Formats: sequence, structure tokens, C-alpha cells
Amino acid sequence: MVIGGGLAGSEAAWQAAQHGLEVELYEMRPVRQTPAHVTDKLAELVCSNSLGSKLPDRAAGLLKLELLRLGSMVLASAFETALPAGGALAVDREAFASLVTRRIEEHPRIRVIREEVTTIPDDRPVIVASGPLTSDALTEEIARLTGEEYLYFFDAIAPTVTADSINMEIAFRASRYGRGDVEEGDYINCPLNEEEYNRFVDALLEAETIELREFEQRMWEDPRFFEGCLPIEVIARRGRQALAFGPMRPVGLIDPRTGQRPYAVVQLRQDNLAGTLYNMVGFQTNLKWDEQRRVFRMIPGLEHAEFVRYGMMHRNTFINSPVLLRPTLQFRKRDDLFFAGQITGVEGYVGNIGTGLVAGINAARLLQGLELLVFPPTTMLGALCHYVTHADPKDFQPMKANFGILPPLERRIRNKRARNRAYVDRALADLEAFAQEHGLTLEPATL
Ligand SMILES: Cc1cc2nc3c(=O)[nH]c(=O)nc-3n(C[C@H](O)[C@H](O)[C@H](O)COP(=O)(O)OP(=O)(O)OC[C@H]3O[C@@H](n4cnc5c(N)ncnc54)[C@H](O)[C@@H]3O)c2cc1C
Repeated sequence: MVIGGGLAGSEAAWQAAQHGLEVELYEMRPVRQTPAHVTDKLAELVCSNSLGSKLPDRAAGLLKLELLRLGSMVLASAFETALPAGGALAVDREAFASLVTRRIEEHPRIRVIREEVTTIPDDRPVIVASGPLTSDALTEEIARLTGEEYLYFFDAIAPTVTADSINMEIAFRASRYGRGDVEEGDYINCPLNEEEYNRFVDALLEAETIELREFEQRMWEDPRFFEGCLPIEVIARRGRQALAFGPMRPVGLIDPRTGQRPYAVVQLRQDNLAGTLYNMVGFQTNLKWDEQRRVFRMIPGLEHAEFVRYGMMHRNTFINSPVLLRPTLQFRKRDDLFFAGQITGVEGYVGNIGTGLVAGINAARLLQGLELLVFPPTTMLGALCHYVTHADPKDFQPMKANFGILPPLERRIRNKRARNRAYVDRALADLEAFAQEHGLTLEPATL
């Protein structure tokens, strides 16, 4: 039984089925929606359509390569529905979710059941992959089972506008430093001069935000708040230049109309295959919706922007994995209960696909009496599973793929590029040796 048909649950169900199990995949949508999902599709991406870097010498690129070699269906589907996005893997979210849904529904050993799960049965192996927005009833059940206090933090979604409504007399297409997939540039850039930037920051600081409840207010003051996804109004409060050095940094961009680098830039990334929707990069926000319309229309080029999705805050739920899970992703107190995805504290779309893959394969191996897999910590997948099961439980925070969680190299390499390359070479060599040792077949793959 797999609970949750998101990124992790879809991959887990697929792997378990491919390894011979009969799988029941429970997805509560559309019977019950989450505050962020809008379709009934499996593997719906709720925010950005980017799955991060696909450059082979980046941590996110290495993780992708490992998962492709291990036969990840969900990641392969992302590559099959990719859009131009420079060095990143961005997908047409609709085509991506449809492809994953079709593959799962057509699998002869997977049955998809549209139902909310409220209790975790103990008469069969279970993989819990219900994500950051796990339903309340299941959250209570997991809290009861784990006996641990839940940890919450908040992320915020960036708004999406229609391409038609962007004023291309002002905005221009370009990729930073001209490094893009398509010649005319992968991003739409809205340039601001110093005066426009200051006016925008003033308006942002004065704009009304959605009222937070008391515990949410406290969260903003909490140093553990997730830095990677701060709302722009919170960044702006840190100093007048904070946005110009953050999500609005203009480096590597020249406005063709002035021949100069703008003072600040708002970038928009293509959000669907048809190229009719664009997402405001790094513009997560908690402003009220009418305030978003008012303030964001002050950005040159967006004065008539039509918003199809507004920014918003959301809850993120994860368990205290260092106390509760083994690196096989098994629950410490129950061999045939696995956790996968964001709920384990692994951050990022691709990391969540990866933990789904591990849980799915291990569930099958458990039933087949085979040794369960603990991927080498020198691989990015192994390092993520290792991190979430070995971090300090008192200060456990979600973690995404990065070279810092890999064990140090045997010899010091000063040059960053060469060092990254060495991490990648070691990871791929160790993955091959591990696969051979455990009788796993690796697919040929390159990025
Ligand atoms: C609003 C928001 C924005 C985010 N933005 C990003 C981003 O830009 N980039 C990024 O890398 N990550 C982002 N994340 C994190 C993101 O959720 C994960 O990376 C990824 O979607 C997690 O995959 P998952 O499979 O663990 O969970 P999900 O993809 O959320 O899948 C969980 C599934 O379980 C279902 N479910 C929940 N409870 C039950 C139940 N009781 N019974 C049956 N089904 C249930 C849900 O309907 C859902 O389909 C965001 C998260 C949220 C909530």
C-alpha cells in the first residue's frame, strides 16, 4: 500500500510494481484536495515547474544522473516533457503529470484508489508518501504512531501570469550571460532602474499581507525558518538592497534597449509547453491577492499582468526522521512501514522522487527476502537518505541535494569545478560497484 500519489508515491508505487509487487496506490485527490494542488493528476507540481540543475557537475545534476541510471520513471517522464530553461530541467507541468498518471494507471500491477487514508494498516507493507500537505486525519495518525511532536515550517508560492499580458515593449528575453537552451533567451526579464526599484520596494514594504495566526507570526522570528524559500516581503525587510542582491539581481543581463545592465530585474520562467504562462522567479509571497496585483503591476513590463495563480503560504509537514527512520527508509519500530518524500525531511522535487525510489525497491526486497539497500553515502541519493536519518534530531531541518552532505574527498582539491567533478566521478563509480554487488541493473544515461 502506497499512501499519496505525488512525486515520491508515484515513483515508489512504480518501483515496487516493477520489482514484482502488487501495489495499491491511494491518492485522496480529487475526493479531498490539498490547499495547493489544483488537479486530480498524480505527480502534480504545486509550485515551480523547475526540477533544478541538469548540469552534470552540480549536486542536483548528479542526483538526476543517479536516478536515471536506477530507472526512475518519474524523472524520465520529466525529461520527456521538458521545456527550455537554460541549465535547468523545467517541465510542462500538465504534460508531465499526465504522463506519470497514464504510466501508473496503465501498469498491470498498480491499482489507483482515490480515497483519503486516515489510518495506517498493520496487516500489509505500507509506504507513507503523503507529502508536506498530508491531510489532517492522517497527520494525527502519524503523530499517534510516532509519538513524536510534529515539526512545521512554511514555504511560499510564487505567482504566475499570462505571457500575453507581459509588455514586451519593455520586457526582454535573455538568459543570464547568454547561457540558455534557446537562442533568443529562456527567460523574460523585466528591467527596473534605481528609481523604479526604490518605489517598488517601498510599496512592497507597505503592502498588506495575509494575516498570520499567532504561531505563524512566531515562526517568522524563528531562525530555523527555511532560508531558501523566503517570501520577497520578508527579504525586503532585511535591507533596501536585499532584493537587488537576491531574486532581483541583474547580473549577466543586458537590456537590449539601453545596452546596459539594469539596476534590478524580475525574471519570469516559462511555465507550460504552449508558452502561455510565466512564473515570477523567486517571487514567493504572502501579500494579499489584491495587493499582489497592485504592487507587482508596478514592475515595468507587468503593468497589465494577468495573474492566473497568486503567491501563497503553505504548511510543510515532516517527521523527525533521525529518530524515527533507518537509512533504508523503514520505520525503526516496524520493518514493513516505510516513509518517502517531503515527509522524511528531504527537500526538493528530485530528492523526493529519489526517496520514493528507495522505499519502493526496499519494500519489494523486504517481501522477497532480499537484503535491503542502503545506497553508499558517497552517492547523492545515499547521502540524502543518510542525512535525514543521521542529522541532529534536536535541530532537524529539511535538506536538499548538495555536495556538502557527501563525505570529504580523499585528497583536497582547491578548484571548485575540479572538486565537483571528483565528487561526481566518485559517486558514479561507487553506484556502479554497489549495483553490481546487489544485482541491480543500471540504465545507460547521460545528462
Ligand atoms: C505549496 C508548495 C510549494 C512547493 N514548491 C516547491 C518547489 O518549487 N520546488 C520544490 O522542489 N519543492 C517544492 N515544494 C515541496 C514539494 O511539495 C515537494 O518537493 C514535492 O511535491 C513533495 O513530493 P511528495 O511526493 O513528498 O509530496 P506531494 O507531491 O505533495 O504528494 C503527496 C500526495 O499525497 C496526497 N495525500 C495527502 N494526504 C493523503 C491521505 N491522507 N490519503 C491519500 N492521499 C493523501 C496528496 O494529495 C498528494 O497528492 C513545495 C511544496 C508546497 C506545499
